[in-house]
Amino acid sequence: MAMHSGEKIRRFSMQSSRLKPLTLLLVPATFLLFLACGHQAAIALITFQQTKQLKELVEIALRRSESAVDFSIAALEELATSGSLGCDSGTLQNLRLHVYRHGVVKDIRLVDSNATVLCSAYSETLEFDQGWIRPAAMLPSRKPSVRLFKVEQFFGSALGIMKETGAEQGLVAIVSMTASSLELMPPELEGAGIVTLSLSNGEPIATTMGAVNLADDDVLTLSAESDRYPLRTALSLNRASLAGWDEEPYAPIMALSGLLGAVFGFMMLRVSNLPPNPLQELDRAIAANEFRPYLQPLFDLRTGAITGAEILARWIRADGKVVPPSRFIELAEESGRIATITWHLLSQALRELRPVLIADRSFKVSVNISPRHFVMQTFSDDLGRTIAEAGASPSQVTLELTEREALPDMCRAAEMVTRVHRLGCKVAIDDVGIGHSGLSQIQSLHADTLKIDKFFVDCIGRDPSAVVVIEMLVRLAAKMNMSVVAEGVESDEQAAILRSCGVTLGQGFFVAPPLSLDEFRQFIDESAMRLALGESGKLKACVA
Ligand code: C2E
Ligand code: CA
Ligand code: CA
Repeated sequence: MAMHSGEKIRRFSMQSSRLKPLTLLLVPATFLLFLACGHQAAIALITFQQTKQLKELVEIALRRSESAVDFSIAALEELATSGSLGCDSGTLQNLRLHVYRHGVVKDIRLVDSNATVLCSAYSETLEFDQGWIRPAAMLPSRKPSVRLFKVEQFFGSALGIMKETGAEQGLVAIVSMTASSLELMPPELEGAGIVTLSLSNGEPIATTMGAVNLADDDVLTLSAESDRYPLRTALSLNRASLAGWDEEPYAPIMALSGLLGAVFGFMMLRVSNLPPNPLQELDRAIAANEFRPYLQPLFDLRTGAITGAEILARWIRADGKVVPPSRFIELAEESGRIATITWHLLSQALRELRPVLIADRSFKVSVNISPRHFVMQTFSDDLGRTIAEAGASPSQVTLELTEREALPDMCRAAEMVTRVHRLGCKVAIDDVGIGHSGLSQIQSLHADTLKIDKFFVDCIGRDPSAVVVIEMLVRLAAKMNMSVVAEGVESDEQAAILRSCGVTLGQGFFVAPPLSLDEFRQFIDESAMRLALGESGKLKACVA
């Protein structure tokens, strides 16, 4: 049955599909590498997320402080537009009313152009001041005529907001920025860091409660600056205190990394154990001269004399393993490499067998030719050149054309037989009886020899019709002036029956299997010696 090319490649590849032991380390190695990378990635992601959240907290603290300032300025603006301001009891009552209505504002004072306090909503609060500030030291804001400064008081600091009201006068709100407005830390980080509100010149206004010991070398500080007021919030905490907070992504990232590492490792294992590309392997083997001709003797069934040899391709791998033709011939044919291999085998065999060919001019070397190769335009020229370069005679070369596969173009094939004959070579039709070309095709090719397929020789003794077919083929060959070779002769019984059928030549394990060139030369020497001594080896029993 025809084998599709995928199966051919698979069969071809089977020879090198064993697992390479060292590559097994790829799985644990990639697993550990992915875990290490996963760890780094998880830490980076968690740190990024933590920093982002803390930054948001610092921003919130700043927005809260800005809102308190907005709120206080609104109170001052309301006062400034409510009429003329003085230190009379009506104005003072109005000031107290505004303090009362604006919770964060602790006092409102009327000041002159030097910022000297003229009067205050609650004059008692002046007792809490530790000092007052000059106008030049006040910090401007984006809002026109509003400046901020720090009011040092006995119990801490407060924020002073000065709003010029014109006419050499101004209003100042004393705002208490409570620590509670800065208490924004998530419960897991409670007490781990401090949040500070300060003026843009660094003077602290408020800070969160509780003592926190900040390590000198590993403190994370994040700050936010207002673009409307000279205010800044900052958060400082020990990096170590972040361990364990918001680390949920760690476990899934590590699990995913481990899984990816294992999958990647197994993929690498597969890839590194894939057999090499069959065509590249074939080309490499051709370049490395790994295809060698093996030779199986053809013998005279009556005398046992060796009359020739068939070249059978063998792929000898670097490790000495011998690959049979069934594993590579079809791939070589389909990929167009068969021509190179064929000429290489023929050339090598003819060179190595030169002494044998010279000693016995009737000795024939047969070579199997793929039908596709045979009908190529350059075939006869390449054949002539190969034989000439090997210093051999074309009359000692027989081409075996298999009948198993149909010839692609019968007319072209017949024309090529004529050209090959002109060169002086012989043509044999191989595997006769099992192919599909039919007797008429055998006739039209004008070949010189019929090779009866091993199938019929195997059936001898078991199936009487095999003998009938063999006899018929012998008669047909005689009519067409062709010689007959029986292939696959394994026993003296088969040899005797073939002889009785009129077959004169045989090939098979009965005499010898395909042999390497060295073995073949030795075989020829031994059989020549036997013949000289009058023996005929195994055939002795068969010779009637
Ligand atoms: P084939 O041309 O019919 O070659 C005969 C096959 O039968 C060889 O198998 C040979 O080893 C085997 N054989 C010979 N005598 C006996 C026997 O007594 N008993 C048994 N059981 N087998 C025997 P091999 O060498 O494996 O070759 C198989 C086929 O591969 C060949 O069949 C031929 O079609 C092809 N082949 C071999 N070398 C080449 C080549 O160089 N070029 C081409 N195109 N095909 C080749
Ligand atoms: Ca053959
Ligand atoms: Ca055969």
